Amino acid sequence: MEYFLNSEGSVVVRDIINEIRSNRDYLGEIDGAIGDGDHGINMNKGFSMAGERINQSHSFSEAAKTLGNVLMMEIGGSMGPLYGTLFKRFFRETKDHDRITAEIVLKMLESALDGVKEIGGADVGDKTMIDTLAPAVSAMRAATISHCSFRDALMKSLEAGREGRDSTKDMVARIGRSARLGERSRGVLDAGAVSCCIIMESMTESIPAILRND
Ligand code: ADP
Ligand code: MG
Repeated sequence: MEYFLNSEGSVVVRDIINEIRSNRDYLGEIDGAIGDGDHGINMNKGFSMAGERINQSHSFSEAAKTLGNVLMMEIGGSMGPLYGTLFKRFFRETKDHDRITAEIVLKMLESALDGVKEIGGADVGDKTMIDTLAPAVSAMRAATISHCSFRDALMKSLEAGREGRDSTKDMVARIGRSARLGERSRGVLDAGAVSCCIIMESMTESIPAILRND
C-alpha cells in the first residue's frame, strides 16, 4: 500500500506556500483582467503569514490546520474563507491518520470541494476555483476506484484540473466580483481557478517525493 507519513508531510503544505508566493504577480495580473487585481496580494499575504508558523516538525495535518486558520481568520477578499475552508477540510480528513493513502487524499479533496461549495454557493461553470477543483476530484475518484498508483492518480487529477482551469477562459462569470462584468468576463482565465491549479500542481510534485510503499 502506498502512503506518505502524516508526520513527514508538512513539506507538501510548505511547497504549496512557496508556489503561491512565487506566483503572486501572475495571480494579480489575472485577477486584474476581470477582478480587482488583489488575488495575488491576498494569496501571498495569507500563505506567507502561515508559512512563518509552519516548520518541518509539523505534520501534514497540523500544517494544513495552521494554513486554514490563518486564511480563514486573518485574510480579506473572497479567498480567505474559501481557501481557509479547503485547508481546514484537509486537516479534518487527515488528522486521525498516521499514513495518508490515495484514498485519504481523495476523501480530503472531496470534503474540501463540498466545503467550498457550501460556503461559496458556486458550482461548475460559474468561472471560479470550483472549475479546477471539481474535475480534479472526479478524476482522482475514478483513478482511485481503478487502483491507479498514487502518483498516477495525482497526475490524472491534475490533468483534469488543468483542463477545468482552461475551461474558465470561455466562461462568463456568474459568481464573485467578476460576475458584474457579464459578457465582458469572457476571454480570460479565472484567477481562483489558476491559483487552485497551482495548489494541485504543487501537491502532484511534492507527494510522490515522500511516498513509501509497504
Ligand atoms: P475578491 O473577489 O474579493 O477580490 P480574490 O481576488 O482574492 O477575492 O479571489 C477571487 C477568486 O475567488 C475568483 O477568481 C474566484 O475563483 C473565487 N471566488 C469568488 N467567489 C467565489 C465563490 N462564491 N465560490 C468559489 N470561488 C469563488
Ligand atoms: Mg480580487
